Amino acid sequence: MQPDSDLKALYVGGEWVQTPDVHRIYNKYTGELFVQISKAGTKEKDMAIEAAQRAMRQSEFGPAQRFQVLHRAHELLLERLEEFAACIAQEGGKPIADARTEVNRSALVFLLSAQEAAKIAGEIVPTQVAPNVNIGPRLIYTIKKPIGIVCAISPFNFPLNLVVHKVAPALAAGNPVIIKPASDTAYSALLLCELLEQAGLPKGYVSCLVGSGSTLGDELLTDPRIRKYTFTGSPEVGKHIHRTVGMRKVTLELGSNSATIVHKDANVEKAAARLARMAFAHAGQICISVQRIFVHRDVEQRFMEAFLANTAKLKVGDPMDPDTVVGPMISEKEAVRIEGWVDEAVKAGASIVTGGKRDKNVYYPTVLTNVCRGMKVIDEEAFAPVVSISPYNDIEEAVQLVNDSKYGLQAGVFTNSISLAHRIPYLLEVGGVIINDTSSFRADQMPYGGVKESGIGKEGPAFAIEEMLETVTVAVNLEE
Ligand code: NDP
Repeated sequence: MQPDSDLKALYVGGEWVQTPDVHRIYNKYTGELFVQISKAGTKEKDMAIEAAQRAMRQSEFGPAQRFQVLHRAHELLLERLEEFAACIAQEGGKPIADARTEVNRSALVFLLSAQEAAKIAGEIVPTQVAPNVNIGPRLIYTIKKPIGIVCAISPFNFPLNLVVHKVAPALAAGNPVIIKPASDTAYSALLLCELLEQAGLPKGYVSCLVGSGSTLGDELLTDPRIRKYTFTGSPEVGKHIHRTVGMRKVTLELGSNSATIVHKDANVEKAAARLARMAFAHAGQICISVQRIFVHRDVEQRFMEAFLANTAKLKVGDPMDPDTVVGPMISEKEAVRIEGWVDEAVKAGASIVTGGKRDKNVYYPTVLTNVCRGMKVIDEEAFAPVVSISPYNDIEEAVQLVNDSKYGLQAGVFTNSISLAHRIPYLLEVGGVIINDTSSFRADQMPYGGVKESGIGKEGPAFAIEEMLETVTVAVNLEE
């Protein structure tokens, strides 16, 4: 267990370690000090890696034990749900109802990973495939081995679930994992280490190093003992990681300016209600948050009225209030940044239909119209409670508008046409198409990841595990 002290310790190779450097995390709504944590440096990074190497050499951590630990972590997380949710709400500013959902989802990811741990297997490769190439009597098959030390670098917006989406698959595959959580929200990850220790994880299989991305992060990226990097965060840092890690494996889950289409045959009122909720959830700080809405011209007016009515009902403010839907942004700097982007768009011809108001780091739900390419609120990832609504004339134009982006994470399409629903996934340049829901839908079991500048590789336990295993081919000559 974490020793009882005002300065929280790091979890390094199965030990709780205090260092003289202090990292402070503040409550994102009240601004009060939330927690003080020891900061990791080169010494702690080396300790974590050496402990991981020792664990791989010495500990018995086969599939049955992995299943048990992950399953126990699932149970413990449900038991400690309120404690984790309060931590996420305070350090991340996430409304408490959404924070509880995040903990429930994280518990599910442990359960899914436990189930996958028990299923890891290679496959038989058929040999009798063509009459003119005779390779003789041979048995060819593959085995799956842990890839080695995994480094998990996570963002602030899902401080628990996006850590679990990396840690649980890494452990299910039999790998030790070193977490570098976002500095703003690092305490959830440390609590998670405590829970994994409680669940019986052998020493060395998980470490959590708290420190700045640009110093500690770069030390982790350049350490050749790490075999795989799994990162969720901004495209800028993702590109830096890709350039730095060279030939080693990498999964990158990056940003987007996600779009949702509302076609003329859709249930417009239902679409408007769902879109208003998902454009502003967690103050728009979700990678698949709805940022661009394209509505068929025939239903534009009806949609706009319903959308604004739903937006007006969203409670803004204190994340600890169970009715709050839109909490603060992660920092005042970020709120000022989006305020500047909106002002710039207005100068270039955009109109604010509602919102456009800021109170410290709370930015009010903002709806823009008359937007176009060349405005940051359209071209870049807003990562704020700002959405634009634009009309289109036919579905070809809507597809072109969605695809006219450097990103491609997910897109939503509201339609009651069966043929359009099945045809449009082939036309949209994204990693996931969500029919009759918004771009923000994610089930933790589904393969999840983008194209273009939205990333490389897929998450979702079954798919992440595959990226954390080495496939080794065995070809046996059966001739006597
Ligand atoms: P950042 O990219 O700023 O940070 C993400 C992580 O990278 C943090 O732990 C950060 O550390 C670390 N980091 C920063 N610089 C380096 C470096 N040079 N080397 C190694 N690590 C580094 O993202 P945010 O935390 O601001 O999160 C928001 C972004 O995450 C958005 O772009 C969003 O779209 C994306 N995201 C993508 C998702 C997806 O699944 N595709 C899901 C959720 C978010 P530190 O905090 O210390 O700076």
